[in-house]
Amino acid sequence: MGVIDRIIEELRNRGFRIRVVRDDSIKADLNRLTVKVWLASGDYFPWWSNPLDMVNDLELNDVNALFVISERPYVVSDYIVNNLSRINYWFNKEVNVKVYSVNIDRLEEDLEDGINLVIANHYRETSNVTLKGNPCPNCGLPMTITYTSRYFSHRWGSWVNEYVEVCEKCKIVSHRLVL
Ligand SMILES: [Zn+2]
Repeated sequence: MGVIDRIIEELRNRGFRIRVVRDDSIKADLNRLTVKVWLASGDYFPWWSNPLDMVNDLELNDVNALFVISERPYVVSDYIVNNLSRINYWFNKEVNVKVYSVNIDRLEEDLEDGINLVIANHYRETSNVTLKGNPCPNCGLPMTITYTSRYFSHRWGSWVNEYVEVCEKCKIVSHRLVL
């Protein structure tokens, strides 16, 4: 199975709806969250001279999060994050995209961890429930469960239940897996 197909399978495994599939990218939704997965693999890397071109080429204007899949994902991610902050300084324009690194050699495991982070970091967009949760470790008041799901974990080799719990007052967000 090709890399793109393996990514699609992992996104579907986590409940994402696949919207656009290209040779080197996928766009997908989870509730109100939109993510883009970009395969920055191989010899050619477009070192954009104008960071706005990067945003247009990667179509980052309508996505909340970007997964960078690469043999050296941290180098590529750093470059993209730097370009995004340049846009802020140079053009006074905010492109609000969080960037997540996935090593192509650990594709399923890294994607799983990345998706866990995305679901927690963007809990307002991913929210699928509003339930009373455990006491907040800081203030002791009940946290709000904003997301629950069940998926097959590559990391644990079994089905897991996942929960995102939030205390808005203390700015605490926890992502919990129960085997
Ligand atoms: Zn609290």
